[in-house]
Amino acid sequence: MSKYIFYGAGQYAQYNIAKWLDEGIEPLCFADKDTRIHHTMFSPNHGGGWEILSLEEALARFTDAKIFISVQGRNWESVRDYLVEKGVAAEKIHIPDNMAYYKSCWKCSHMLLTSVDGMRHCTYSKLPITKYSKPLNSVKDLDELEDVLRDTYARFRENINAEIERRMSGKMPSCGDCFNWREGLYPKESEQQYISIAFLSKNSACNFNCCYCTNHPKFSKKQQQNTLNFSYLDFLTAGLKAIKGPNMVFRFGYSELTLDPDFDEILDVLKKNDVNLYVDTSAFLYKESISEFLATGRMREFRHSMDAGTRETFKKIKGVDGFDRVVENMKRYSKSDINKVTKLKYIICPEMNDNVEEFSAFLDICEGITNKIEISSDHRLSPTPPRNIEMIHLFEQMAIERGFNVQIWYECLYKDGYRSNLVNNDL
Ligand code: SF4
Ligand code: SF4
Repeated sequence: MSKYIFYGAGQYAQYNIAKWLDEGIEPLCFADKDTRIHHTMFSPNHGGGWEILSLEEALARFTDAKIFISVQGRNWESVRDYLVEKGVAAEKIHIPDNMAYYKSCWKCSHMLLTSVDGMRHCTYSKLPITKYSKPLNSVKDLDELEDVLRDTYARFRENINAEIERRMSGKMPSCGDCFNWREGLYPKESEQQYISIAFLSKNSACNFNCCYCTNHPKFSKKQQQNTLNFSYLDFLTAGLKAIKGPNMVFRFGYSELTLDPDFDEILDVLKKNDVNLYVDTSAFLYKESISEFLATGRMREFRHSMDAGTRETFKKIKGVDGFDRVVENMKRYSKSDINKVTKLKYIICPEMNDNVEEFSAFLDICEGITNKIEISSDHRLSPTPPRNIEMIHLFEQMAIERGFNVQIWYECLYKDGYRSNLVNNDL
C-alpha cells in the first residue's frame, strides 16, 4: 500500500475511495480548495478517517509525500496545473499504473449503453455497435439472457480496449470534436461504470405527457421497436452477473421508473449489490424507497425536469396539473439527499417558459430543494434557435448570481452538428 496526499475531497473521491484502497492507493490525508471542509473528516459514507486540510497544511505536514489527484479524469489537467502553480513539483504528482494521460472522452472508458440491438459507449459515437450474440427478444430465460450479456460484454470490452489503444496513440475518432473530448487522465483499459439502459421494458410507462417527449402518450413506431419484452428487473438480475465493473451506476430507460411494478425490488437488488443508481423522475409519486436509497449515499444523480416556476406553465409543458405535488415531493426527497445529488432541470421551450419571470420563480422553488440546476433547450428544435441560446445564457447568469451550480446542455455545444450522428435506434 502506498500513501499519498489526496487532492480533492468531493463526491468523486467518495465514490472511488474503496476502489483506490483496493488498488493499494491510500490517503495520508485529503487536501481541498474548499475552506468550509478543512479540519473535517473524509468521508462519512465510507466510514473513513482521513482529515481534510488546506493544500499548504497538507504539504507542510507530509513534506515528502506524493500527491494523488482524486478528482474526475477530465478535470485532472486543470487540477495538476493548479497544483504546479501552487509550487508542487510535477514529478510529485502520482499517476497510477493503470492510468495514462491522453486525449479522449470519459464515455469511452466508462460508459456502457445497452440498446435493443447491442452495446455501445456513446449515443453519438460513430464506432460500430457490438451486436448481441442473439436478439434479446428471442432469449428464453434469465440464464440465457445472462449468457448473451456476458458474451456481448466481452466482445464490447475488446472493441473498447482497441479504441482506447487508438486514442492513446494519438488518433482522434470522427466524433472527437465534441465537448467531452479533452486531455486528461484516463484508464488504459475499459472500466465501464455507467450502465445506461437505453430501451423501454415491457413495464415502461409514464404519468406525464411532456410537450417535448418522444415516448408519450403513445409510443411511436420507433419507440415500439425499442421495447424489449422482459422487465428491467430481469435485465438487472442477469446484467449484474454478466457485467462487472468498479462502482457501477445503473440508469434505466426513458420512462417513469417509479411506475414499474418491480421498482422497490430493483432498489433492493441495487442496495444488496452495492450498486449505485441514476434516476430521472417525474416526481409525481412520492416513494419512500427513493428517500431510503438517497439516504444510503448510493444515488449518483436524482433529477427532475421541472421546466417551469409556476403551476400554469408546468401544466402547459408537462400536460399534467402536478406542480404543487411535484414541488412537495422534491422537498421531501431533498431531506434524505445526504450527498446532494438532486438536480432540477429546465428545458427552454419557446413561447411557453422562456421569460425571466418564469426563470426567477423556478429559482425560488430550487432554493428550497437543491443548489444544482441544469438548463437545456427543447431538442425538437434543431439547430437550437439563437433566441433559445440567448435565453439559456441569460438564465445561467441569473442562476449564478443567486449562487446556483449550473450545468448547460444544448446541441450548439457540439461542433459541426455532430448530433446528426444519432443512430436510428436511440430514443
Ligand atoms: S461523441 Fe464525444 S463523448 Fe461520444 S465517443 Fe465521441 S468524443 Fe466521446
Ligand atoms: S416525464 Fe419523461 S417519459 Fe414522461 S412524458 Fe415527460 S419526457 Fe416523456
